[in-house]
Amino acid sequence: MSFKDKVAIVTGASSGIGAAVAIAFSAEGASVAIVGRNQTKLAATASRCANSLVIQADVTNDDDARRIVNETIETFGKIDILINNAGGLSFGSIFDDKIMTAYDSTMALNLRAVFRMTSLAVPYLIKAKGNIVNVSSVAARTTQFALESIAYSVSKAGLDHFGACLAADLAEHGVRVNTISPGPVVTDIKANCGDTGSWDDLKPFTALNNVSQPEEIADLILFIASDKAKSITGSNYITDNGFLIKRYL
Ligand code: NDP
Repeated sequence: MSFKDKVAIVTGASSGIGAAVAIAFSAEGASVAIVGRNQTKLAATASRCANSLVIQADVTNDDDARRIVNETIETFGKIDILINNAGGLSFGSIFDDKIMTAYDSTMALNLRAVFRMTSLAVPYLIKAKGNIVNVSSVAARTTQFALESIAYSVSKAGLDHFGACLAADLAEHGVRVNTISPGPVVTDIKANCGDTGSWDDLKPFTALNNVSQPEEIADLILFIASDKAKSITGSNYITDNGFLIKRYL
């Protein structure tokens, strides 16, 4: 899976899955635009990439989104791959007064920012006959998640359908669009949303009694973004240690 001469933008590359993806792309020869808000963490990812451009930016800010695309073009001259990975959640249930705040912030990050980033990158992706990978979640497909994370589940369900529609829209332009849907992956996401539970506690909720490491998710993303997957578009890959097929009866 050589990505020599390829240019990838990875949003949310300052930690977790996005950092692993950026490092993996770089190891395969790609030039990578590393996007996130935390400068220290971005620098840590960059230090493990041979040819990277750090872009400190908030993807929910429209001007920042434009800057991400512009700076990538100014530095690398093209965009072959867009990984819409930045995401997270804030809690709020239908029974409490945090629901609309949770809805607004979660949708802004997990869905609206993806629309914005994608619309800005599409002209360049068409030119390069490139591809997009969106990072969704098994949360889009089940009601098993905590009731306070309803906005997250709905945002990812929207992202799934966005990916399918976009794949249809862009196929005639030679641009592939795919989605991956991880189950539990050991990253900072829990801590970032104030969840103090341990990742190990989630193992029994998977058929394989396991949780993933970010590098495993990066492997799948790289495959989908590579020429080896040239016939794959509009697909959505579950990688969840059997979370969704776990039997409780
Ligand atoms: P992390 O919290 O480790 O990483 C999230 C990344 O998103 C960070 O790099 C963060 O960077 C970035 N980010 C968050 N908000 C913004 C913003 N406004 N602008 C720019 N960057 C932002 O979590 P994960 O690696 O786990 O999450 C990556 C994706 O994987 C998310 O879409 C998540 O929903 C999805 N996912 C994760 C699962 C898991 O169990 N870990 C399971 C299923 C899906 P910074 O703080 O520097 O801005």
